[in-house]
Amino acid sequence: MIFTVAIDGPAAAGKGTISRAVAERFGFGHLDTGLLYRAVGAKGGDPVAVARALTPGDLERGDLRTLEAGQAASRVAVIPEVRAALVAFQRKFARREGGAVLDGRDIGTVICPEAEVKLYVTASAEVRAHRRWLEVGGDEARVLAEVIERDRRDAERAVSPLRVAPDAVRLDTSELSIADAVAIACDIVAKRLG
Ligand code: C5P
Repeated sequence: MIFTVAIDGPAAAGKGTISRAVAERFGFGHLDTGLLYRAVGAKGGDPVAVARALTPGDLERGDLRTLEAGQAASRVAVIPEVRAALVAFQRKFARREGGAVLDGRDIGTVICPEAEVKLYVTASAEVRAHRRWLEVGGDEARVLAEVIERDRRDAERAVSPLRVAPDAVRLDTSELSIADAVAIACDIVAKRLG
């Protein structure tokens, strides 16, 4: 069975948690596509060459979840050749046998417009910054500034900007518990699976 769940949205909206839970519930593979951009940004050097030579081992570095790696990712993500180098891997994963969940910014719009389910997961910038701050600590105002800066860069870039696909279901998690958000997402997938 080929079945793709595309989960897009801004930083720290809950995409990762929802994606992992949906993948586990339905036995689908899961790809956090942000990790690809984080790995390219973290390696340094020429981002285009790094993206073209990226290996699965590069996704296993321990420092890819930091605020700095997020910023570096959003800087290399504006480069069209970097995005192009990562497309084939993501498309292949999306259409793998057995079902796939991919989370990112452009999965439902660019990588897999034919996805069977598209969710746009969002939340207010303040709620997202607070959640990220609980994970990374430090100064909460700085985390909020970082979230707003990354939102702006992701939404304003020329190639594959963050957009809601016209056929995506919008899920605002600002006032939802994790369990409720996961339940809503799983219901949508279950209905589409029939
Ligand atoms: O989702 P995550 O916060 O790990 O993504 C890090 C950065 O990678 C994003 O801010 C965005 O610039 C970029 N990204 C992207 N397209 C994706 C996934 C992530 O441009 N599909």
